[in-house]
Amino acid sequence: MSPSTPAVSRPDFRLPKSHEAFARANRVIPGGVNSPARAFGAVGGEPPFMAKAEGAYLFDIDGHQYIDYIGSWGPMILGHGHPHVREAAARALELGTSFGAPTVREAEIAEAVAAAVPSIEKVRFVSSGTEATMSAIRLARGATGRDKVIKMAGHYHGHVDALLIQAGSAATTLGTPNSPGVTAGAAKDTLLCPFNDADAVAALLEQHRGEVAAVLLEPIAGNMGLVPPGPGYLEALRALTERHGVLLVFDEVMTGFRVAYGGAQALYGVTPDMTTLGKIVGGGLPAAAYGSSAKVMDRVSPAGPVFQAGTLSGNPLAMAAGLATLETLREGHAYERLEALSARLAEGLGRAARDAKVPHVVQRVGSMLTLFFHDGPVRNYDDARRSDTALFARFFWEMLARGVYLPCSQFEAAFVSAAHTEADIDHTIDAAREALAAAAG
Ligand SMILES: *Cc1c(COP(=O)(O)O)cnc(C)c1O
Repeated sequence: MSPSTPAVSRPDFRLPKSHEAFARANRVIPGGVNSPARAFGAVGGEPPFMAKAEGAYLFDIDGHQYIDYIGSWGPMILGHGHPHVREAAARALELGTSFGAPTVREAEIAEAVAAAVPSIEKVRFVSSGTEATMSAIRLARGATGRDKVIKMAGHYHGHVDALLIQAGSAATTLGTPNSPGVTAGAAKDTLLCPFNDADAVAALLEQHRGEVAAVLLEPIAGNMGLVPPGPGYLEALRALTERHGVLLVFDEVMTGFRVAYGGAQALYGVTPDMTTLGKIVGGGLPAAAYGSSAKVMDRVSPAGPVFQAGTLSGNPLAMAAGLATLETLREGHAYERLEALSARLAEGLGRAARDAKVPHVVQRVGSMLTLFFHDGPVRNYDDARRSDTALFARFFWEMLARGVYLPCSQFEAAFVSAAHTEADIDHTIDAAREALAAAAG
């Protein structure tokens, strides 16, 4: 039996078993979690511990069911346990979980990625998005013989040292590390720009003529809440980087296969030099990738001198789950369905926020969206940070108590999956009305 939309609000919402599990985890795992966002630091309180997931739903160990809008933070575009993906992974499991030797499926999924993503002729698989961006930057530096990388404030590219650089308010400010352990040396070659400001990129490229290897960005920002590129912005970056002989790198770890089958570059018709992928490409198992033209990729070892390797790279289970996910997305009508459901959700949330008279804007591209408690459009990190995060925290908990699991920070995008139903969306909008009344009052 498939579970259906959870029905009622829960004024008696409690998490006693999760509380115990969190205390136990905290004794042996820093902060009780293996990735920081899961600890609910941005909204306060303690996270529910999950027992299982099915379709559009998460089930915690305290017996609650939630409509899931994080989708494992991006990968689960088909929902949890899609039969094609599950069968492909189960078949692969029978044959062996890791060989450390090549398999045919690696070429199959590489062909599928190259056919889907305009900028990719050849692709190398790795195990995480962090590894993909780290390797892409090394390759960009190796290919150009230059050291510096321009990144956008508020964009996240995994926990690569050189990319863990805090937002500076001035476009030309040299980055300062935002984590202890990131050395000044690792930070000194990272230059920061505000998102959606092509003039700032132009000025930096002028100032550092001949020194910049790559301009790296999320073409649609998802890691400061959902912030789309303004009209002409990506085109301007394309022209600027071409003029300066700089590689344009789209980090599509989140947007790849999400906003369109060919990612943001297919959606906007702007082709970068290099692309990183992750999340969906692994179908819920650990896989990520970076790709470019054959000429650039043939600089990667063993074809070329830029070293990069991985014991579990191209893992058979991950490749099987990833390929099954891509095939299901390619052959089905997932994107039309995702668009319709997501538009319905965005409209409903906007209406609920308007009726509750809270400052807000709903920003959405395809099945990624954020309800910002911000008056007017959010164009960059500075705008995003002016949102009412205290209101967001109260709203988040009111939604959780009503069976809706949103990302636990104002600065994350929510994801709709193809497993969501109109009933789920409508339940979410009803919950939002109640939650906003409770949170704003
Ligand atoms: C999630 C994400 C990463 C990091 O991927 P991991 O698999 O968590 O290392 C990098 N870039 C973007 C845009 C992401 O959304």
